[in-house]
Amino acid sequence: MARFIFITGGVVSSLGKGLASAALGALLQARGYTVRLRKLDPYLNVDPGTMSPFEHGEVFVTDDGAETDLDLGHYERFTGVAARATDSISAGRIYSNVLEKERRGDYLGKTIQVIPHVTNEIKDFIRIGEDEVDFMLCEIGGTVGDIEGLPFFEAIRQFSQEKPRGQCVLMHLTLLPYIKASGELKTKPTQHSVKELRSIGLAPDILVCRSEGPIPVKEREKLALFCNVRPDSVIAAQDLKSIYEAPLAYHREGLDQAVLDAFGIAPAPKPNLARWEDVVDRIHNTDGEVRVAIVGKYTQLEDAYKSIAEALTHGGMANRVKVRAEWIDSAIFEREDPAPHLQGFNAILVPGGFGERGTEGKIKAAQFAREKKVPYLGICLGMQMAVIEAARNKADLGNAASEEFAEGADPRSFTPVVYHLKEWIQGNATVTRRKDDAKGGTMRLGSYDAMLTDGSRVAQVYGNTAIVERHRHRYEVDIRFREQLEQHGLCFSGMSPDGRLPEIVEWSDHPWFIGVQFHPELKSKPFEPHPLFADFVRAAKEQSRLV
Ligand code: GLN
Repeated sequence: MARFIFITGGVVSSLGKGLASAALGALLQARGYTVRLRKLDPYLNVDPGTMSPFEHGEVFVTDDGAETDLDLGHYERFTGVAARATDSISAGRIYSNVLEKERRGDYLGKTIQVIPHVTNEIKDFIRIGEDEVDFMLCEIGGTVGDIEGLPFFEAIRQFSQEKPRGQCVLMHLTLLPYIKASGELKTKPTQHSVKELRSIGLAPDILVCRSEGPIPVKEREKLALFCNVRPDSVIAAQDLKSIYEAPLAYHREGLDQAVLDAFGIAPAPKPNLARWEDVVDRIHNTDGEVRVAIVGKYTQLEDAYKSIAEALTHGGMANRVKVRAEWIDSAIFEREDPAPHLQGFNAILVPGGFGERGTEGKIKAAQFAREKKVPYLGICLGMQMAVIEAARNKADLGNAASEEFAEGADPRSFTPVVYHLKEWIQGNATVTRRKDDAKGGTMRLGSYDAMLTDGSRVAQVYGNTAIVERHRHRYEVDIRFREQLEQHGLCFSGMSPDGRLPEIVEWSDHPWFIGVQFHPELKSKPFEPHPLFADFVRAAKEQSRLV
């Protein structure tokens, strides 16, 4: 049976709980344990799938097709363990399950209450797959004291009581603000947040304290005394240059040791940190820099493209170059010539997106990359825009467009080279959709196979002709235009196994121009960079040496 580590946060939000959880997962793996990480989010959306990237950052898609919190991306990148639909839950989903059961009559006439019905539902979720791993790490979103969080805190209190002693450990992440005027690191907010936890029956075993600098012994002892933890369980989490330094930094601070001590595991197995030493070495020992323009829509919030930013960093590690990613709002290219904006970049990436705004600008970016022979990676919408560009400017289909942007338009007024897919095959089953289906969870989601053309650039990049990648989209490139586009040099080099859905396109006479219908960034890891990102950055490096 798994041991459980619950991770909560106090004082302020955005302290990096997800990262701390992921780094701890990696450290436990380094000591030979198996782990799984989970996120419990107190908001009332059923999942983040329908939330704007401006509100909530990227939506991370799992192999089994769930739209989840971006912290699951950190978990995967640090542990390599593929996240599942059952690794992410929100209060919205919990309540929706409870209400569904109530409507079905499962509660046999009982009055439905937060305790026990909602808390039971949360506990059932935490228990899923508990026999599969040595450690289950469950992060509670938000901050202690949030009104929506209460049922989750109560559920983990009950859960810890129900398990045998020593089976559950609570790690609380807080902030130690530094007051410049007095030169002091303040412990009071942490004391208050621990007090808040204790008032609902939870006592942290480990305190992880974010601070700008090291925590002096005096403050560490004070925290231990007032928060009722052992001094060696007060862990300093200083700001780091790269998130990938976190496992080694936390190890130096004694986090994994403190956690194993809290479980009474002695002697603790020795860690093998070679993987993380190599990762950090690749970040610090680089030869040169490449500039990549990311031409997208959600450019104000970096978290909106979190996995892409990370996958580019991994591509840099694979080539030992620093990748400078710069975000450009594609809408600019609808008013201005893209050339002055894009000159000087070694590669262009057009990421995924939804809705029409900014798409003409993305088409211009694809055209610039094609004509100027700049390496181009188009992801999902970025592939669709590259196909529209090819249709309009090479295949003489001047009114080529996507059905996504033609809501209500006369179907004869444009050529739908990208269309709304209503039926497709997943494994052995046929999936169908209707135009007026609910939005949440109805896209082509999760892992699908693709077959690559022998001798194509992508087959060379992957070193394989059969791949599996994750999807999240409603629209597809129409196979009916394949021949016409291929005649002009845009090869359909990756297809769904039934040959109906284009998965990859590439310009045959271009140094590196690839569009993919899926999201390769979701599967990239620092210790295993995704081949497309590794080769894209390699091409950018080559381009930087030419100019
Ligand atoms: N909006 C497009 C679609 O639904 C692309 C989606 C995406 O880029 N993830 O097909």
